[in-house]
Amino acid sequence: MNAFIEVNNYCELKCRFCVADLGYKYPSTNISMELIDEIVDKYQNDKIKAAFITGGEPLLHSAINDIIRKFATNGYYTYITTNGQLFSNEKFAVEFLYSGIHRISIPVYGCCASIYDKMTGVEGSFNALKIGLDNIFYIKRKYAPHIKIELRLLMAKFNIGNNEDVVEWIHENYPDVDYMSILGLQLSSRTNNYEHMIEISMTEAAPYLHSCLKKIREYGMKCIITGIPLCVLGEEFSDFYNTKSISKTDQVQLFPHLSIQPHLKKLDDCLYREESSKQKSIDICQQCRYQATCEGVQERYIKKYGFNDLKAIV
Ligand code: SF4
Repeated sequence: MNAFIEVNNYCELKCRFCVADLGYKYPSTNISMELIDEIVDKYQNDKIKAAFITGGEPLLHSAINDIIRKFATNGYYTYITTNGQLFSNEKFAVEFLYSGIHRISIPVYGCCASIYDKMTGVEGSFNALKIGLDNIFYIKRKYAPHIKIELRLLMAKFNIGNNEDVVEWIHENYPDVDYMSILGLQLSSRTNNYEHMIEISMTEAAPYLHSCLKKIREYGMKCIITGIPLCVLGEEFSDFYNTKSISKTDQVQLFPHLSIQPHLKKLDDCLYREESSKQKSIDICQQCRYQATCEGVQERYIKKYGFNDLKAIV
């Protein structure tokens, strides 16, 4: 069983594009260790198991290392998405990298404080990110080369023109990054509030993404693209959709999965999700060569922009 777990619903940053809306509906909550134990016990005999851990900001959960350790020692592939701020504490970074984590994904919204801090809404956050990245890359190089680090680019109006510089900055400082990744813009009630600085159509974003991907290719970095279909980016980038560039152990599928949120108390309350809510156009996608493998586009994006960005590749 794969499990997608929001271990908490609060964060020290106030990112303008954050999709973790849960915190608006419930008071600050942490997932209980009892629920984690119940998940692990129930799926003990499954051969393939992955725990996708997120939040809120998951590193702020006081038992995060125990949670990761519990999954890892029970045969789960453990993958966390974090803002990485707490890695600026060296002791914390060391302990976390020894928890049994397999892959860490950290978004890099900019390569200078004037962009990054504006996106996170917190002064000093770029500085903390830089120290945090320095720490975890140092530990990985010296003691934990098996841990994969993925650095993620954000597709938002305010920072998209800076992404090529971000790739250069990453190559200069962390040339041994395992994966770059680009995630299509996820719309949420928060992005609505900052529409002027966040929301951008995929067609508008495409030229910026092209220059980034060319740079990523020039540097020989690996890149995973999700939520942006090939018909928007163009077939010349089809190699980035090829899972062969991802190591076999890292090729875990998110769907189907159990969706677990911090306010839930029992496993029976968790939702089993067969597939993502992404959508495709019946008229356009049915004629497309990639329709069998393409995941389509976020439902909320389609509600706002329609299918105007899509063009069948015949
Ligand atoms: S299947 Fe649809 S969304 Fe996917 S690449 Fe083809 S036209 Fe685009």
